[in-house]
Amino acid sequence: MTKGSRSHKRFSRRRAQLVKQIEEKGIKDHNVLQAINSIPRHIFVDTAFENRAYEDSALPIGNGQTISQPYTVAAQTELLEVQKGDKILEIGTGSGYQAAILCHMGAEVYSVERHEKLYLNAKEILQELGFRPHLKLGDGTLGWSAYAPYDGIVVTAGAPIVPEDLKQQLTVGGILVVPVGDQKSQVMIRITRLSEEEFKEERLNHFKFVPLIGEKGWD
Ligand code: SAH
Repeated sequence: MTKGSRSHKRFSRRRAQLVKQIEEKGIKDHNVLQAINSIPRHIFVDTAFENRAYEDSALPIGNGQTISQPYTVAAQTELLEVQKGDKILEIGTGSGYQAAILCHMGAEVYSVERHEKLYLNAKEILQELGFRPHLKLGDGTLGWSAYAPYDGIVVTAGAPIVPEDLKQQLTVGGILVVPVGDQKSQVMIRITRLSEEEFKEERLNHFKFVPLIGEKGWD
């Protein structure tokens, strides 16, 4: 696909307006808002959608997938309570935008994507922007055990159930953010690992994600 212009400065006014909108919708974490203000979202979408990159909406990125709505990215990131240096695993690299937000916030980012084209594309863009996340092509419903445990895990596709492997790949004190439901609507679930065996579960707002497809996801 034709990629958008690489300039960071382009659209800076629109980006600031988007941040204001997201703040009005309830996002408070200053580091999250600052990351949204800094990452050029238009670079992560096809040039045909460049002009819509700073609307608060999901947009197509090919392979039937979407770059999540900016509010959704902000909400999931806020729930993760990211601290500088945290090891964060993302399931569903997609465009790479969420990974860029996490890198900007100083996290050590691991991200898994099942579509090769999206994986390669995200790799190129993130590299160009100077970010160095660890990317993998594969089934993220199984997590990424080689680098576990993680301080935070974020699933950016809708799951039928909470994937058990992901819970087991959290540090004690670690947070898993995963949308769970049917393919039309999902409730955002935040799971905090309290000890080796104990987990706290919070059920939050409803969202609509593309399906998480894999061994522990949808067929
Ligand atoms: N975080 C992305 C959102 C992409 S949409 C962004 O910022 O753009 C969700 C992504 O999850 C899609 O790219 C889809 O291909 C991917 N996905 C779905 N099931 C997956 C799985 N089991 N493992 C890895 N990626 C998966």
